[in-house]
Amino acid sequence: MTRDWRALKEEARARNSLLEVVRGYGVELRRSGRTWAGRCPFHPDTRPSFHIYPDGFYHCFGCGAHGDVIDFVARAEGLEWREAALMLASSQVGSGRIAPQAAEEERAPSPQELAAIHAAWEACRRHLSHPRAQEYLARRGIPTAAADALGLGYWAAGVAARLEGMGLVEPALKVGLLRRRRQGRPYWEPFRGRLIIPDLDREGRARWLTGRATDDETQPKYLNLPLPKPLLGIDLVEGEEVALVEGPLDWVAARAMGLPAAATLGAHVSRLRLLPLARFRRVLVLFDADEAGRQAARDLAKALGQRALVINLPKGVKDVADLLLLPDGGERLREAIERAKGMS
Ligand SMILES: [Zn+2]
Repeated sequence: MTRDWRALKEEARARNSLLEVVRGYGVELRRSGRTWAGRCPFHPDTRPSFHIYPDGFYHCFGCGAHGDVIDFVARAEGLEWREAALMLASSQVGSGRIAPQAAEEERAPSPQELAAIHAAWEACRRHLSHPRAQEYLARRGIPTAAADALGLGYWAAGVAARLEGMGLVEPALKVGLLRRRRQGRPYWEPFRGRLIIPDLDREGRARWLTGRATDDETQPKYLNLPLPKPLLGIDLVEGEEVALVEGPLDWVAARAMGLPAAATLGAHVSRLRLLPLARFRRVLVLFDADEAGRQAARDLAKALGQRALVINLPKGVKDVADLLLLPDGGERLREAIERAKGMS
């Protein structure tokens, strides 16, 4: 069947307001004369360089990105314009339940804050042999070699002193690694006693981290740095396939079982956070086996298009991390993936 691409293009434009679509991607826009302005989603933008014009085109004065609603979606999703036009003509964009990032999460860390994150992580790595960390890893079935390879750590006594020694207390306070106290010592350590799971860039530098409580009573279960959530571990994935899991521990488990995994850190994923997935030909979605997880997996697959393949976890398993506790968990996971691939 040949398509009338010109008609499709018009249909796609007519059905979707650029302003609404851009907002749907979590970009905050403010009126500025005849245009709407916001921070550009296509480059690290500190000022509102991204403008939307009344004629339905956008232009970024920072990186030069420019185009109409089809071009915007193509860029945001890593698609050909024809694929983007098809998505828009069928109104798939903006109809999903993929939530934009919360406003307070949008701030990017400063270089000093990144230095503090990296220093804290390095200090935590040295404490992975702490009995509480080792006991927790054993309880969850996480092999020590995998924990080591993924850069897991433990926030023990001495981490704050290390930050102090490096003159990084101020940025550590700003980025939430340390918290101010009203009296006594000037700060306290919210991550103390937690297993530290880092997001590393290609150079092996930590740029974000989360702390998992090592017992079942401590709340919250995960303490995150108050920064934009990464796709945890995405820069460590090589090749053309990536497996998306929900939680940090699912990520550790999937990697320990040999999958090229990254974690979305929750069932709801803003479309902007999907941008790093543009380079993959195949995206396996391995979300939790509850109703919320299944619905989120369907939404995500819809947003990703044909590249996505939703994997049903083996019967009786509630999430990927659970599989580590089964003697044949890795095998059963690989079988589930092969089965889904065979049916696609
Ligand atoms: Zn830009």
